[in-house]
Amino acid sequence: AKEAGKNQYAFFAAEMTQVAKERLKLEVKLRKAFEQQELFLNYQPRVNMKTGKMAGMEALMRWLDLDLGSVSPAEFIPLAEETGLIVPMGKWALQTACRQTREWQHMGLKNLTLSVNISTLQFQQADVVEMILGVLQETGLDPHFLELELTESLFMVERVEAIRKLNLLVEKGIQISIDDFGTGYSSLNYLRYLPVNVIKIDKEFMRNIGKLAYDEALAEAIIAMAHSLNLRVVAEGIETETQYRFIRAKGCDEMQGYFFSEPVDAITFETLAFHVQAD
Ligand code: C2E
Ligand code: CA
Ligand code: CA
Ligand code: CA
Repeated sequence: AKEAGKNQYAFFAAEMTQVAKERLKLEVKLRKAFEQQELFLNYQPRVNMKTGKMAGMEALMRWLDLDLGSVSPAEFIPLAEETGLIVPMGKWALQTACRQTREWQHMGLKNLTLSVNISTLQFQQADVVEMILGVLQETGLDPHFLELELTESLFMVERVEAIRKLNLLVEKGIQISIDDFGTGYSSLNYLRYLPVNVIKIDKEFMRNIGKLAYDEALAEAIIAMAHSLNLRVVAEGIETETQYRFIRAKGCDEMQGYFFSEPVDAITFETLAFHVQAD
């Protein structure tokens, strides 16, 4: 029995090492991919529900590795957060997306708002406000065309400091949205202390629309609550016409999802944006 226990320990130790090794390998690969400028951005349209026109786009990071293929952000973003790599990576994403948006403006796509995800760790950096304003200045993008997507976790740890920074950004005209709304364990109460313009309802709440009355009631309640607080509401993960009709009936302001378009590369986005504008 003693021998078996020992073997079992050896087995677990080996397995643990295997997991740690894989993780380290991925981390090294990610760091290299970032340094060699192999990461890129996709853009997903956000659509105004009233006009049917494109209101803007969310920039989403992509990593295509020769051996691994396409690695999901759901896998590499948390890794980048754990290792701190998200700080330079996030800055790069902001720079790239602002520069691209400015280019699109020059080409005639003038009214699109750019949304960029900012990790909590990234926003906790002491110089984040200077970093963001610096990027706007260097790319020439008007702050009114930038929206930052933050998650509720930011307000769980450093609420006062976060609000101070947000106010500085909002003063310049930058818009703030709360991403993945409803997935955190926070109360709604904190919203009134925040200089926030938009909430994005998480796609979890959209999944069962047309299937589960309970989830429909929840989605409807979130939209009504947000509107009563004068917030705009964006529904994420709209994949079907049923979902689309539902959120439109409930007065949702904007939508984002495969029903309109998946996240696409810059060239495809551009083509789509011109096409939709021309309609
Ligand atoms: P997110 O910010 O909630 O982004 C929305 C995610 O939903 C994206 O996943 C998008 O591709 C996906 N999505 C859009 N429409 C639909 C739909 O109709 N159905 C379904 N099932 N999914 C849809 P993606 O691109 O895999 O990104 C995952 C997460 O990785 C993002 O979630 C965000 O938290 C993070 N992420 C991606 N890019 C960045 C970045 O540049 N910076 C930071 N900090 N995080 C990022
Ligand atoms: Ca987002
Ligand atoms: Ca989201
Ligand atoms: Ca998310």
